[in-house]
Amino acid sequence: AARLCSGEAEAAGGDGAMLRHLARKLRASGPVTVAEYMREALTNPGQGYYTRRGGVGESGDFITSPEISQVFGELIGIWYISEWMAMGKPNTFQLVELGPGRGTLTEDILRVFKQLASVLSKCDVSVHLVEVSPKLSEIQAVMLTGGKVQPNPEDESAYMKGISKTGIPIFWYRDIQDVPPGYSFYLAHEFFDALPIHKFQRTEKGWREVLVDIDPEVPDQLRFVLSPSRTPATQNFIQPEETRDHVEVCPEAGVIVQRLASRIEKDGGAALVADYGHDGTKTDTFRGFRNHKLHDVLSAPGTADLTADVDFSYLRKMAQGKTATLGPIKQREFLKNMGIDLRLQVLLQNSSDTATHEQLLHSYDMLMNPEKMGDCFNFFALLPHHRLVHPDKKDKPESKSPLPPVAGFNELLLK
Ligand code: SAH
Repeated sequence: AARLCSGEAEAAGGDGAMLRHLARKLRASGPVTVAEYMREALTNPGQGYYTRRGGVGESGDFITSPEISQVFGELIGIWYISEWMAMGKPNTFQLVELGPGRGTLTEDILRVFKQLASVLSKCDVSVHLVEVSPKLSEIQAVMLTGGKVQPNPEDESAYMKGISKTGIPIFWYRDIQDVPPGYSFYLAHEFFDALPIHKFQRTEKGWREVLVDIDPEVPDQLRFVLSPSRTPATQNFIQPEETRDHVEVCPEAGVIVQRLASRIEKDGGAALVADYGHDGTKTDTFRGFRNHKLHDVLSAPGTADLTADVDFSYLRKMAQGKTATLGPIKQREFLKNMGIDLRLQVLLQNSSDTATHEQLLHSYDMLMNPEKMGDCFNFFALLPHHRLVHPDKKDKPESKSPLPPVAGFNELLLK
């Protein structure tokens, strides 16, 4: 199963080094924010879930759209080509993926770039992967380069580099800030949901932050408590007009979107964000996954994926008007606009065996069915203002040819 939208968590047993490490820390210095807990559990350099396990894929803890069907990545590859064309075919671009998992999405995109090599022939393309997990970066290196990579290249800000099987240079970084500036197409698929969130609860005494503490009654068991008074995060992240009783905020996502927006404003390009999420309406979405099942977020930290729905209204706000934003639009609408039905027909016609047919139809259903991934996954884009509105439109609206519509958010029109 995929990690679908929020649901109830179930208890699961098992503990280990991460729990002992956290218990020691909590006993010594008191409760921590959910954000701090999530960061430790997911990306602690020794014991974090992504550092050690990073279970994307069928044999892991959760499955994602690119792992379900090659069509997903192919249509995203076409989205970038279509935007590249709409923006006047600049002679170079960087494809920058945040949290590339097993590297499958980039692999599928690069296959499309290769198939459309005649279109891209005069364009200098490079790939830049932002990945904190040593384990996953190794898997990506095998997937994309066949394992032929150079660690710690001296002349670069990257921690690893290689050449894709299709001949495109690939670089790895731990932070978006290390990626060199330049015209870039950014991609974040199921990335923002993995970043640490703060949780807040409205009480009779005002807003309080939800914290993680050790249970005094049960050894090495964690529990949620409320902060006795307001915390710095309560002060900074709750809007005065907030009407919900429970709110999750992901400041790290905000910082990254600010960086993406600044970079796009300065150097050009676009960002495509796809994830499960909402538009500032949901409350308690923090949950864990292990072996494709919901998992109690406080049990056996480091052994399960922890995630929360992405608040797209917050991302839009954090772009601070530096770029235009489009979406969120439902995955099934985005993929339909990108021509998934036609692509499915072609693949069905090209194969004659029943097993392949069934597999194609099954994966189409996973991606598109509103009850599966079709409705709760969303696409959201950051684009330079001039991509949507002519800069001098106010002066002479009639003298300009209309700007091509942005594919996915509108029907794809490839000339
Ligand atoms: N995009 C992939 C994988 C999603 S899982 C897919 O859809 O299949 C989340 C990915 O983000 C993993 O690769 C994980 O290691 C990475 N990640 C998590 N936190 C990160 C951080 N703070 N910085 C960079 N990468 C991170």
